[in-house]
Amino acid sequence: MATADIETIVVGGGVIGLAVARSLSMRGMEVMVLERHDRVGSETSSRNSEVIHAGLYYSKDSLRARLCVAGKKMLYRFAEENGVDVNRCGKLVVATSQDDLAALDNIAQRAHVNGVTDVTKLDAAAANSIEPEITCIAALHSPSTGVIDTHGLMTALDGHITTNGGSVVLSTNVTGISLRPDGLYALVTRSTDSEADDVTANTTITVKNIILAAGLEATRVGKMLKSAWPSDYSCPKTHPAIGHYFTLSAPAPFKKLIYPVPSGAWLGIHLTLDIAGQAKFGPDLQWIDTIDYGFIDKDGERCSLFEKEIRRYWPNLPDSALQPGYTGIRPKIYAQGEKAADFAIHGPAIHGLDNVIALYGIESPGLTSSLAIGDYVADMLLAATADETG
Ligand SMILES: Cc1cc2nc3c(=O)[nH]c(=O)nc-3n(C[C@H](O)[C@H](O)[C@H](O)COP(=O)(O)OP(=O)(O)OC[C@H]3O[C@@H](n4cnc5c(N)ncnc54)[C@H](O)[C@@H]3O)c2cc1C
Repeated sequence: MATADIETIVVGGGVIGLAVARSLSMRGMEVMVLERHDRVGSETSSRNSEVIHAGLYYSKDSLRARLCVAGKKMLYRFAEENGVDVNRCGKLVVATSQDDLAALDNIAQRAHVNGVTDVTKLDAAAANSIEPEITCIAALHSPSTGVIDTHGLMTALDGHITTNGGSVVLSTNVTGISLRPDGLYALVTRSTDSEADDVTANTTITVKNIILAAGLEATRVGKMLKSAWPSDYSCPKTHPAIGHYFTLSAPAPFKKLIYPVPSGAWLGIHLTLDIAGQAKFGPDLQWIDTIDYGFIDKDGERCSLFEKEIRRYWPNLPDSALQPGYTGIRPKIYAQGEKAADFAIHGPAIHGLDNVIALYGIESPGLTSSLAIGDYVADMLLAATADETG
């Protein structure tokens, strides 16, 4: 094979692309991350709840369950070793009606199956001894749930990549990818820096391996490979679903995160605390056709709905205490009404194309799972390379 300009390029500098690049760079591979914005992680990776999930909800043996449980441990250790702020505050999942009790038991069982053995069931009095403001008839306590400073995490990952000889190149949009006859891939890039000498100029980089970690753009970037994909492979379609957060204008009377019993694959309007202790509620779930982060609350209807949901478990929520916060968009790969999909991490065994790993549908718990996903993808790439070399 001809010599590539770069051994491996990761398209997308969110937490997943950075974690994969770090893992590859730790194994001595030459890696470059290309990110279209002028800073890392400015899309979904900075528009989430910042929760380190314990691994309570996901189906047995799914990638989401396995990588969440492994990633949680890795993340706490990484944060400790790299001075990234975390708060292992724990969370309560609260049942507010008799109808919720069976679901609460199911979550407890699923957690155990997933290897999360520290979850305990509490009656109302025990839950109130931990969080006196909560109204519930029973709860689950998950002590290993926490929150992390996502920006601190991504800065640390960026630092590791650079220290290991890799690079993170910002303001660089990947606009085309093709497979050359010599087996290398050609990536066409264009600068998004308005002060660049020639913003219309294309640059082509040849590369041996490509990791597609483009978040909400995963399908569009995947399709850049067009006819290179085997005819029986099609990139999963992305179905975006927006979530809104309201912040609490007063100090929060809670030490733990508070979640209602989930409704299907949606975790419900929950209370999370950021690393500074500021409370926020959300995200709700609304399927959308186009990517638009605008916060819409027509005639305060969304706020009223949030107040109603929150008062099921916190009746003392004061009037007018919720302020519009921010939104995040989930890169779902199943449509409204369909069964929730697992993370889709497609390597040559699935799509049939050498030296390409494409990630789709990395929604929650993607942040928690990020370091485990990094290792998973690096292992997959190295295994595929070993197969090639015999
Ligand atoms: C509302 C919400 C709440 C969540 N809460 C949690 C939580 O509490 N805990 C948890 O574990 N997970 C949570 N998640 C999931 C988590 O945020 C995501 O799984 C994770 O951030 C995905 O990271 P990513 O790198 O795949 O995507 P992104 O952060 O979106 O990164 C993809 C990057 O690719 C870049 N890109 C795209 N196309 C191109 C191109 N052509 N050229 C160059 N660059 C390109 C984009 O600019 C972007 O920066 C939540 C998600 C949402 C939406």
